[in-house]
Amino acid sequence: MLTLPQLERIEAKLDLIIKSLGYDAKEEKGEEVMPIVCWRCNKIITGFKDELSKKEYQISGLCQSCQDEIFDSELAKGVEEDND
Ligand SMILES: [Zn+2]
Repeated sequence: MLTLPQLERIEAKLDLIIKSLGYDAKEEKGEEVMPIVCWRCNKIITGFKDELSKKEYQISGLCQSCQDEIFDSELAKGVEEDND
């Protein structure tokens, strides 16, 4: 059986490991956590130009440039269809 001080030491160590991996307890506090890597282009996500893009990331997991690419092409397609 582990004693409470032992458990606390293990917990503190785990916390350090988690932090060293780039995670922290921000999410639990309800603070915003910056995304890590875009699944589409594998680039590290550094930020978004507006709240809408940030929300889109939460839904699609796409970085800013992938969002731009996809929505630009969809927009172009839409315009094309409208002209038809
Ligand atoms: Zn991307």
